[in-house]
Amino acid sequence: MNKEPIKLVDNFDRTFPYLRLSVTDVCNFRCEYCLPDGYQCAEKPKFLTLMEIKRLVTAFAELGVWKIRLTGGEPSLRRDFTEIIDLIAKTDGIKNTALTTNGYRLKTDAQKWFDAGMRNINVSIDSLNKEVFHKITGHNKLETVLEGVEKSLQIGYDSVKINVVLLKDINDNALTDYINYIKDRPITVRFIELMQTGDNLYYFKRRHLSADIIRTKLLAQGWIENIRSHGAGPAINYTHPDIMGSIGLIAPYSKDFCQNCNRLRLTAVGDLRLCLFGDFGVPLRDLLQNDDQKEALKRRIMKQLDYKKSSHFLIEGETGLIPNLSATGG
Ligand code: SAM
Ligand code: SF4
Repeated sequence: MNKEPIKLVDNFDRTFPYLRLSVTDVCNFRCEYCLPDGYQCAEKPKFLTLMEIKRLVTAFAELGVWKIRLTGGEPSLRRDFTEIIDLIAKTDGIKNTALTTNGYRLKTDAQKWFDAGMRNINVSIDSLNKEVFHKITGHNKLETVLEGVEKSLQIGYDSVKINVVLLKDINDNALTDYINYIKDRPITVRFIELMQTGDNLYYFKRRHLSADIIRTKLLAQGWIENIRSHGAGPAINYTHPDIMGSIGLIAPYSKDFCQNCNRLRLTAVGDLRLCLFGDFGVPLRDLLQNDDQKEALKRRIMKQLDYKKSSHFLIEGETGLIPNLSATGG
């Protein structure tokens, strides 16, 4: 039998080795641009179970996916989070297990997650100023989150990154703070342009900024744009000879952003999303109920790639299905 994994390829010759798997919509933070009123839900949601996640990840790995990022909501709020990491890291074919987190549990749990097989951590820190961080997230937790980052560096994670959503008049002048922070730390800080979602139009209009303002400052200070490797994803990275860390820019509103798309997304209830801003989700959960459904599941996933569009339509203001990014994991 041929054991070589099939590759997921779409009609635009893009391949998809990378799956972002949301494991919960629930979040304990109230980030202004994402869940300003906190997580709300009328009835108890039924997120994918461990067994369903195992079947899903096995099928995707057999379709050539080798990197899985856990996201949410806040993924670490799941009680079985360490077991989820463990089962993913142990799945044949998965070489890279990653997490995006608000860092709330990092300080206490970073070692446990590492031991279970997690290797790459992205922590969202939109300000290095305590008061501003508190205002954006609704939590006075900057110090704890930074201690978690320190702990992750000590433990030896393969990569530690910080995500910063670029916000006009809030953190657009904070580049120097981040550069000072990564001067002697092997951390990549990634500035992400604020994206419009179904829920945040007013906030978006007030706070959205192009990442060009960061790019211009970086180039003026001698930062060098790195050459992108094939399949590297949409971030553009910059390095500086005097700084240990690096800076990345994620600019979904820029031309050609989608050309480098290398990822698929799964919601916490098992819907496949071909694009963060797509206008449809394909339920996979009915094919996660027993091991015998694996081939049918793989066929359904492969068929969907025919429908992946060349680009999102964010510039036209089409935000697709999602009310906010806690529903698909950003
Ligand atoms: N709760 C985790 C966290 O905050 O890292 C994981 C989920 S969160 C939705 C994933 C990422 O999406 C975070 O870095 C967050 O800042 C970012 N994000 C959320 N809403 C966004 C928006 N409207 N535009 C750009 N980035 C956004
Ligand atoms: Fe929660 Fe992350 Fe959304 Fe902030 S960005 S509210 S931490 S899901």
